[in-house]
Amino acid sequence: MPGEHAKLSASGAKKWLNCPASVTMEADFPDTSSAYAAEGTTAHALAEIKLLLALNRISRVQYHKIARDLEITEDMEEYTDAYRDFVIEEYNRVRANTPGAQIYIERRLDFSSWVPGGFGTGDAVIIGDDEIVVVDLKYGQGVKVDASNNPQLRLYALGALAEFGYLFRVKDVKTVIFQPRVSNISEEIICLEALIKWGLTVKEKAALADSGTGECAAGEWCDSGFCKARAICRAYAEEKSRAAAYEFRPPAELTPDEIAEIIDLSERLASWSKLVKDYALDTALRDGVKYPGFKVVEGRSNRAYGASEADIAAVLTDAGFSEDDIYTKELLGISKMEKLLSKKRFNELLGPYIVKPPGKPTLVPTEDKRPEWDSAVQDFKKFIEKE
Ligand code: SF4
Repeated sequence: MPGEHAKLSASGAKKWLNCPASVTMEADFPDTSSAYAAEGTTAHALAEIKLLLALNRISRVQYHKIARDLEITEDMEEYTDAYRDFVIEEYNRVRANTPGAQIYIERRLDFSSWVPGGFGTGDAVIIGDDEIVVVDLKYGQGVKVDASNNPQLRLYALGALAEFGYLFRVKDVKTVIFQPRVSNISEEIICLEALIKWGLTVKEKAALADSGTGECAAGEWCDSGFCKARAICRAYAEEKSRAAAYEFRPPAELTPDEIAEIIDLSERLASWSKLVKDYALDTALRDGVKYPGFKVVEGRSNRAYGASEADIAAVLTDAGFSEDDIYTKELLGISKMEKLLSKKRFNELLGPYIVKPPGKPTLVPTEDKRPEWDSAVQDFKKFIEKE
């Protein structure tokens, strides 16, 4: 159900399993939604109706009626097609073994017998003899999400078992992250006994998180779980400050290892500092909180016309200026042009005229997926361009 959130949510499970106090710490912060979240919601809605159509659960007319109200991009069509095909393939695979296998789309899964008040929505759940398959569509294009040991998917699996487990003799549970924008399909297969054993450990931790008596414990889940309390959390601040208290050792010159640590540290401190500054500005404006040594001022701004474009143009043409004097005519940029023409037509007409100049060298962590800068290759490119 859109807008309904469990106190101990499956998506936040990694955070509350590691930091039981996070539930209480985050309670007073409002839920925020970003443009990315809205895009993900649209992609899920589209993926859902594509599956329902493929399973003959809605008609083509119903499909178009729903689809026309969604803001669908061309990429979204491709990615959700790939997701639909994947789920249908999994369903057919399970059906080959169990003709009466069942599939549920966007199904509310209740795992409250493990986690107080716990529920979530399974994007696709397939159940047959021997196995349950839980597929989660992730529309993000940031970090690749791993299915192994993923508490969100395991909780969904426990919810699916609670609801449908009686229908078949399930032995294994397969959980899948389908993340098409980063070409990531990650799977975990866990036997029923191991899942139940894991569920029992979760049950204890969930009870502690629910009781509000647990302590803050900072770690990578603070950032990966987007904890809303980071700006005010002492444990998080202490962890960041520990990192800042870096000890430099002789000799006088920093080594490449030390410089790498400083770059890493400065990036982590910069993101923490932004969080705290945003929080301080927000509370200063909203609640009038004063922060010693700081004040809120009006930011710099640029001049703008205070009337409509047509009114401004009328003033100028009345004063004798021609349209050529006052307007500039520009070719649409590449993204807008591609949107206007469609990707296919854009490639047909303009493909040969699109160039991609080399970007400026930049220092990034080794996990970044771009290939390492190669000076020889760049020199060769420059040589080719001159020819
Ligand atoms: S910032 Fe980290 S340590 Fe603090 S409440 Fe959130 S998850 Fe817990």
